[in-house]
Amino acid sequence: MRDERERFLIRYAGDFAPFVVEKAEGAWVLTKGGQRILDFTSGQISSTLGHNHPRIVEAVERSLHDGIHLNSWMVNDDVLELARRLAALLPDPLEKSILLNTGSETNEVALKLAKAATGKFEIVGLTRSFHGLLAGTTSVTYSMGHKGNGPLMPGSFAVPAPNSYRCPVRHCVSACDMTCLNVGFDLVDQTSVGSLAAMMVEPVLSTGGIIPLPPGYLAAAKEKCEERDMLLIVDEAQTGLGRVGSLFAFEQDDVVPDIVTVSKTLGGGVPLGATITSAEIEQKAIDNGFLHITTHVSDPMPAAAGLAVLDVIEDEGLVRRAAEMGSYLMDRLLGLQERYVQIGDVRGRGLLVGLELVVDRDTKEPANDLGGAVTAECLRLGLSMNIVKGDGSQRNCLRMAPPLTITTEEIDIAIDILDSALKNCLA
Ligand code: PMP
Repeated sequence: MRDERERFLIRYAGDFAPFVVEKAEGAWVLTKGGQRILDFTSGQISSTLGHNHPRIVEAVERSLHDGIHLNSWMVNDDVLELARRLAALLPDPLEKSILLNTGSETNEVALKLAKAATGKFEIVGLTRSFHGLLAGTTSVTYSMGHKGNGPLMPGSFAVPAPNSYRCPVRHCVSACDMTCLNVGFDLVDQTSVGSLAAMMVEPVLSTGGIIPLPPGYLAAAKEKCEERDMLLIVDEAQTGLGRVGSLFAFEQDDVVPDIVTVSKTLGGGVPLGATITSAEIEQKAIDNGFLHITTHVSDPMPAAAGLAVLDVIEDEGLVRRAAEMGSYLMDRLLGLQERYVQIGDVRGRGLLVGLELVVDRDTKEPANDLGGAVTAECLRLGLSMNIVKGDGSQRNCLRMAPPLTITTEEIDIAIDILDSALKNCLA
């Protein structure tokens, strides 16, 4: 469809949706054509309390009167309070925040902090990762392919992601025993110039195909980092603040990262992210010249939204709710899997769930055409989901990340639509 959007907007993500949006509210998006679409993407996994939660709207309205923006070196009470609240929610010694806007930005800053604090520059990521598409974070993002984006940062390494459904080192058949991590680090050690600064990981590789790191993986990764005097950076852009059934996903592995990044959910739809580390790492980084002044660092308006988000998550018990609704969604999807041989795998944590469509359950050949067809048919019938890129070439994994406020009735609607879409596409 070539329309005004293609004339005036850079096509930043390929195609635009086949409609223009009138309004978004709760778990629903209303198009200008009058269609109501159930949004199983929470916007870009940011409107996790539902679109336009009244308490976020109220907080933003208050900040419009108190001041939207300040010079970078000035902070107001909301900014300070948000940093204080994040420190209270995170384990010691994670207590110092920088408040930014996007996930990519929080990860760029995490990389800068790690490089400055260690005085080293090499960065290890995971294949199938997504940490942003800015110049630095692109080099740690392996799920989209890198064509057209070179050169990457010098010293960029990828360790195979622990994908037990499609073991990258052809070793495990069901549960992952982390051979991929060991093999990956063996190769890193052989090719490093001796300047390993940090490893950056997502607790659930989302864009890479909804691959939860197996239990114990983060602890093993932290050990690898400690052996090499590297820092462990955990990117909680999608997993943080409740979605996976704990406030932070890393808590489930009993590990304390050196640097944590949160974004997306933190602003509930308003651009807000934070990079959080210890006083010791901050000091080392500053001693080595760390500097990060941006126009919207420590801005009051997003901070006000962030405080409202944290309040709502607590007051509405959304962490527990994500676990409960996640297991309801998972059960319903496993029910569908019994009826469609084309559903090869259903996996995820909490309300971050993926479904892989395959041509054949034994060969696990990705059903790429079916993936595109089913998502398009779902959208036609009123359900929005994303296809995630997997290894950069797959188009068979459907991602479901509804708001944490989703109801069982809304999940039932989504399952009915998905069922009809599968039926229609396979007819
Ligand atoms: N990290 C993760 C895990 C993400 O999923 C994303 C966005 N999809 C980012 C970082 C980048 O965030 P942003 O798009 O806000 O820059």
